Amino acid sequence: MVQGPLFPPLTRRKKAPTPGMTDHMHPAASPSSDRDSTPWDLEDDNLHEECGVFGVIGLKSASASVALGLHALQHRGQEAVGITSFDGDEFFSRRGIGHVAQVFKNQDIFAELPGKMASGHVRYATTGGSGLRNIQPLFADLASGGFSIAHNGNISNAMTLKRDLVQKGSIFQSTSDTEVIIHLVATSRYPTLLDRFVDALRLVEGAYSLICMTPEGMIACRDPLGIRPLVIGRMGDGIVFASETVALDVIGAEFIREVDPGEMIQVSHNGKMISQRPFGEPSARPCIFEHVYFSRPDSVMGGQSVYEVRKAIGKELAKESLADADLVIPVPDSGVPAAIGYAQESGIPFELGIIRSHYVGRTFIQPGDGARHADVKRKHNANRALVEGKRIVLIDDSIVRGTTSLKIVQMMRDAGASEVHMRIASPPTEHSCFYGVDTPERNKLLAARMDLQAMTDFIQADSLAFVSIDGLYRAVGEQQRNNGCPQFCDACFSGDYPTRLTDLIEAGKGGGVKIPA
Ligand code: SF4
Repeated sequence: MVQGPLFPPLTRRKKAPTPGMTDHMHPAASPSSDRDSTPWDLEDDNLHEECGVFGVIGLKSASASVALGLHALQHRGQEAVGITSFDGDEFFSRRGIGHVAQVFKNQDIFAELPGKMASGHVRYATTGGSGLRNIQPLFADLASGGFSIAHNGNISNAMTLKRDLVQKGSIFQSTSDTEVIIHLVATSRYPTLLDRFVDALRLVEGAYSLICMTPEGMIACRDPLGIRPLVIGRMGDGIVFASETVALDVIGAEFIREVDPGEMIQVSHNGKMISQRPFGEPSARPCIFEHVYFSRPDSVMGGQSVYEVRKAIGKELAKESLADADLVIPVPDSGVPAAIGYAQESGIPFELGIIRSHYVGRTFIQPGDGARHADVKRKHNANRALVEGKRIVLIDDSIVRGTTSLKIVQMMRDAGASEVHMRIASPPTEHSCFYGVDTPERNKLLAARMDLQAMTDFIQADSLAFVSIDGLYRAVGEQQRNNGCPQFCDACFSGDYPTRLTDLIEAGKGGGVKIPA
């Protein structure tokens, strides 16, 4: 078995990577850098989707289309981006720390990424941390030829599989969970690449939407439960895969359908498509939080407009927890559609009581606490003339640690609001996500630590309410949650995880969660 290295010998850098830093094919790796955490950033207390994937085959200038598609998926990961292309002969790659527009800032770059097939990835620091060597697509020269892989999701038995692989001689070059799939493919005993790929994925548990490239073409695949999204589109003679429909819209591709849970689609260079379902057809459990927060509101997911679902959640929230108030105010930007729904259902006027500056980047010199506080105001400021003397209902998508809610409630009071009622467009987030979403450990989640009254006191609101789990299910078009076999993954609310969490159990941290045998 020939197993080529993912990267050449590592070259250690003393300094952490900076935005815009890039590498090329087979890069020198750098040590992981710490995430840019700005403690006073209101957005820091949100959950973060960790990845977006995009791939095209059969299109001229494929890499430029991938860059455009990734730009539309930037909300799914802002730390790093990579694109790999294939020109019929060789693979080419460029990856870097920073946003798509920073790393692919001039057109000349695409001349270095030739060919009619390309795939790309935007990431937040996921399993394994940040650093150039973890930026995807990952690439390896296998016995069957080049193999690149871009992954959205998280493998919940990656550490266990890695330990076995290392014992058998595999040498890992990144700390990404995705590399486990490459080694499983490389060491599978099946004769064809496709059979090896299926064999590898049978050993993997957790969430994965994958876009892979081989010299023969592209393979897109979604995990058997469809936890993370993946859609397929067409543009001229080309086929496009993307995490969300908005990326198809942006490059002018036509939406065909979602890749089904457990479906594997091969597309060859002559445009021939073959679909198979090698993992059977278990009941799907797509992530319900995509509807609440992760996906862009102009995407369509599960056949429904994300924007309309968010408005429907706001309506459910108003039916369940009406506040006696003068104004409905969204926490920008993610609370806006739910606030519109709440206002429409309740008849309370919707107003923009918090104004967000769109010209402030995440990174800013933080000389001290005073300046940090100023940074909050540079990003979000109360519309004092509107709020003063009013009883307001604040609508946000979720509460994670509670620090954001506390600051916003305080901001409203400082601006003269006479009452502040907080309404949350998701049930209490009581559990961590192990499927590719950056969640704090459970003991840092406000709803895991406190009951409703204690949470209300903590954020210093006059009242606090969350939409119920059945209210959320109604908003996504179900009558209620099917408690025996839920229609979605809602584990961060319910603790009812749809897959085994082998690494968690092996680490002795599986207490308090419901995991299938
Ligand atoms: Fe989505 Fe929550 Fe399930 Fe993670 S645990 S996949 S965020 S619903």
